[in-house]
Amino acid sequence: MIERSGSVLVANIGELVTNDPERGDGSPLGLCRDAALVAADGRVAWIGPAAGAPAADTAIDAGRAAVLPGFVDSHAHLVFAGDRAAEFAARMAGEPYTGGGIRTTVAATRAAGDEALRATVTRLRAEALRQGTTTIEVKSGYGLTVTDETRSLRLAREVTEETTFLGAHVVPTEYAGRSDEYVDLVRGEMLRSAAGHARWIDVFCERGAFDEAQAEAILRAGAAAGLGLRVHANQLGPGPGVRLAVALGAASADHCTHLSTMDIEALAGSSTVATLLPGAEFATRSRYPDARALLAAGVTVALATDCNPGSSYTSSMPFCIALAVREMRMSPAEAVWAATAGGARALRRDDVGRLAVGGRADLALLDAPSHLHLAYRPGVPLVRRVLHNGVPIT
Ligand SMILES: [Zn+2]
Repeated sequence: MIERSGSVLVANIGELVTNDPERGDGSPLGLCRDAALVAADGRVAWIGPAAGAPAADTAIDAGRAAVLPGFVDSHAHLVFAGDRAAEFAARMAGEPYTGGGIRTTVAATRAAGDEALRATVTRLRAEALRQGTTTIEVKSGYGLTVTDETRSLRLAREVTEETTFLGAHVVPTEYAGRSDEYVDLVRGEMLRSAAGHARWIDVFCERGAFDEAQAEAILRAGAAAGLGLRVHANQLGPGPGVRLAVALGAASADHCTHLSTMDIEALAGSSTVATLLPGAEFATRSRYPDARALLAAGVTVALATDCNPGSSYTSSMPFCIALAVREMRMSPAEAVWAATAGGARALRRDDVGRLAVGGRADLALLDAPSHLHLAYRPGVPLVRRVLHNGVPIT
């Protein structure tokens, strides 16, 4: 619910994460102590010492707590029907994850009316916002027909500008054994219908989904239609996805769980972000990506939820930060940066994921004195207040 607009002063901030290394302590997080911030017209208008803060129409007292840029969740699948709680329970009892359950959600999504799908995407967007996610990417990929992919993107656009056409999520049942024909549909009629509703195109390049040649054909067609590129790469095993993403200049290669030294070198020498999705490893009880190897090589790392009903049904960026620290040995500072500035890089945005004058006034106010608590107090709802486009959300 929107309270009001006008200028807003966030006063008495104990620790402000700016992600501007020119500010504060000079670290990548650009930590400022005893700070204040003013938002006006949806943008950050002023940042400085708490004692020198100018007046504004509304004031929020941070009570010496930590404030950080709103999370940028650069990978989510929110347009679907049904859930797969039973599949999750079976997996926890020992069944392996194969990705085949996507087809279950496809059947439910096709059968659902627009209102049911809209209710789900709206509910999940609100759930994420309450937890501090101010920018979220939303993919199609559970329709897999021209009509259902297009309507998925139309509904996604109602909640975000960061929409991604994922017609190449999996080969639908009716095209079993005819995957090349399905690829022709995706890069032809389906792309023509979907492109106007999407900013990005994505492909699940994996054994059992789309091979390298198919993925490349789809991505090249998407680029020709004016869409930016993203790739689901190297999740379930080694493969060509990461190197294809780099070769085609994709904004992001997502998952990056099974990487060779060559894959890491390719990412390090590129503008392609490695987006890690530890919620998927958590919910499929799989091994986690080697974040330390990526960071040591100088790769830009983002963290995202992969929110979807099968392999990672969480919308919580704080949970992903806690997993990244506990399971992937990222420092809390690295994880917070990856969940904010890293996500912005993965979406090629410079107006979000950091707090700087002129940038979007998207921020999360914590019920904690430091960003460290996001990993230190896992599972606790630490996001107390959110400003989205400069507007306090309640
Ligand atoms: Zn995904």
